[in-house]
Amino acid sequence: TRRPYIVGNWKMHGTRAMLSEARAIDRAAQRHMKVEVALAPPFTLIHPIHREAEQISVGAQDCHHADGGAFTGDISAAMVADAGAKFVILGHSERRQGHGETDAMVRAKAQAALAAGLRIIMCCGEAAATRESGHALSFVKKQLKASLPPAEEMPADIAERVTVAYEPIWAIGTGTAATTDDIAEMHAAIRKLLVELYGEEQGTGVRILYGGSVKPENAAEIFAVPEVGGALVGGASLTADSFMGIALAA
Ligand code: 13P
Repeated sequence: TRRPYIVGNWKMHGTRAMLSEARAIDRAAQRHMKVEVALAPPFTLIHPIHREAEQISVGAQDCHHADGGAFTGDISAAMVADAGAKFVILGHSERRQGHGETDAMVRAKAQAALAAGLRIIMCCGEAAATRESGHALSFVKKQLKASLPPAEEMPADIAERVTVAYEPIWAIGTGTAATTDDIAEMHAAIRKLLVELYGEEQGTGVRILYGGSVKPENAAEIFAVPEVGGALVGGASLTADSFMGIALAA
């Protein structure tokens, strides 16, 4: 079985003053090699963190779908790879909601990222109203199926290159994570979908992370849920203490 994968999403937090925190995370990760630790800082910190990191891998929080061109303010997959990124988070609900990213746009970004040699962390997750209406499973399966590239456009080593992150929108930044029952049910449904899409071998190898108010206090019970391969952590990834507290629980 794969090492647990613990990824920090710094969102729009962090200037060079945060490099010392990244350094502390890297040093702690060197002492806990049974966990794979990664950080997705803002674009501006990818290269500085990559240059110093000995253990953690660095990634981006988004990329554009095109190779280059007249797209003011955008950043391509090749550019983040050139800066030292090894992966890119795609389809985060804050991009879908705040930047109008559709499933089709997210899929195009995934294709560009994979073509640039990056690994991807594909996010999915339902809003509170969708869960309350009882449609969370069908919503997430449809969103994920439309956001991930189809099998014929995937590299051979799908399980190595692709990670899925289930992040229910109502659990992000609220302090209240999904229940372990809800996580278990959703992760099982996602696993089934991945096997349908990519076959038994690759489909069972893709890691499925949980995200949404993961903290040191609830990490152990979340990591004990079947089909949880790690966590995508927002707020609690901003200090080495809390982030590595989560990693240690894995
Ligand atoms: P929080 O851990 O702050 O809830 O954020 C989760 C998230 O959106 C990570 O991508």
